[in-house]
Amino acid sequence: MKRFKMLIDGKAIESASEKAAVIKNPANQEPVAEVSLGDREDAALALGAAERAFPGWARTDPKKRGDLLCRGADLVRERAEEIARLLTMEQGKPLRYARREVLSSAEALDYYAEEGMRNFGEIVPSSSERTRSLVVRQPLGVAAVISPWNYPVDLLAWKVAPALAAGCTVVAKPSSKAPLAATEFIRAIHEAGIPPGVLNLVHGSGRDVGSELVESPISRKVSFTGNTETGKEIMEKASRHVKRLSLELGGHSPAIVCEDADIDEAAESCVQRAFSNMGQICISVNRIYVHEAVAEEFAERLVKMTGKLRIGDGLDPDVDLGPMFSEAQRKKTKDQIADALAKGAAVLCGGSEPEGEKYSRGFFFMPTVLDDMDHSMRMMREETFGPVAPMMRFSANDEALRLANDSRYGLAAYVFTENMTTALWFAERLEAGSVGINTTSPIIPSAPFGGWKESGLGRERCRAALYEYMEEKHIRIGLREGI
Ligand code: NAD
Repeated sequence: MKRFKMLIDGKAIESASEKAAVIKNPANQEPVAEVSLGDREDAALALGAAERAFPGWARTDPKKRGDLLCRGADLVRERAEEIARLLTMEQGKPLRYARREVLSSAEALDYYAEEGMRNFGEIVPSSSERTRSLVVRQPLGVAAVISPWNYPVDLLAWKVAPALAAGCTVVAKPSSKAPLAATEFIRAIHEAGIPPGVLNLVHGSGRDVGSELVESPISRKVSFTGNTETGKEIMEKASRHVKRLSLELGGHSPAIVCEDADIDEAAESCVQRAFSNMGQICISVNRIYVHEAVAEEFAERLVKMTGKLRIGDGLDPDVDLGPMFSEAQRKKTKDQIADALAKGAAVLCGGSEPEGEKYSRGFFFMPTVLDDMDHSMRMMREETFGPVAPMMRFSANDEALRLANDSRYGLAAYVFTENMTTALWFAERLEAGSVGINTTSPIIPSAPFGGWKESGLGRERCRAALYEYMEEKHIRIGLREGI
């Protein structure tokens, strides 16, 4: 079986312990490949390499850094099919979505290749005639980049690209549960000609490798996407060295369907965002608040559209939904559904595993629509990370707003209305980093993405992410006589 290695100081290497883990396909539990399993020792080795490479990379002309990132993007695109197949086999998502994810990761490299050249400083008003003040931004050092299993390539790319463009060196740790496609992505960038030590990849558990990356004084920045509870632990540990942090954490996104909404459009958009990647997406539609006057019509469309989704092995080109990532995710979803039903919710469709031999060995689950939800149910308050669209009815906009904001999370929120005044009324009051009006696709490269409340700290995408890997410096210059 093929073994995926780590990348440290420009070399593909086994972990010091020579341990490995087998990665299995969630559609049929067959082995896909092995991955080297590192521990603290390997993480320390990678941090050391990144520390040594930092001064040279930080001084490299941003144009040269950008050229290398563009070449990396080309290599990722050339290998997109191979990387996408690995992604489908280790994570479960249908191949066409895996391709989209890989291409988005190449776009991240292209995007920051250009943004890196726009790191303009400022000349600020001086405090006296014979002084000048410059404000510049400089790369802050070694960045530890830690990512989860649900979008293992894309989420890594939108961290690695701005970090490298800013002039930081990187130690990347993808999820140990879905590390294969991420390894191929990192390898492609490395083979573009990035100098040894600038970009390192370590595999292993969060407990060992992740903790070393966060606790070591060598990393000056931790950029993490994952669970809110893990994020809190990282925040606590990072405080020991006052480390810079970007935290993209959990979400629990509400969608509000107003009385005047285009019901077909709202239903289609909610189906797409509640079920894509089997609901295992941080900006998934987790709660639908629908005006009572249109609730029946909306529910009927939602159920009809959900019924058309085809489930199966992600490598099958006709499939819309693959398996869930793991039995743990499926069990969590089933437990939350059981809790909702015990408290009075109704199943409109789904609610169980699909029947048939072809589903018997994978973690498949039917996309599920629930009605009559309320906030006493766990699903309306906790992250589900499963293919469920739970509906609750409301009668007035301020009630919908209160319910939507009644959450410890604040990543994304969606509103469906034909009235722009209503749209803005909601958009300005919703406690979320991204608000979609008549859309559930709120992420674009050139706009900031990140969470309010317990959904995180800092911003990804756009120029803001470049600055997350830089420190500001004020240079005050005293001039001689004669100016
Ligand atoms: P997770 O927190 O369990 O793991 C994420 C990464 O952190 C993995 O690489 C893991 O090995 C590592 N890790 C775990 N414990 C660690 C520790 N103590 N120190 C350092 N690293 C550690 O999350 P997951 O289950 O892989 O991913 C699902 C979660 O990610 C969900 O909560 C989801 O909402 C969140 N997520 C957020 C966004 C966003 O942009 N806000 C995007 C995708 C996923």
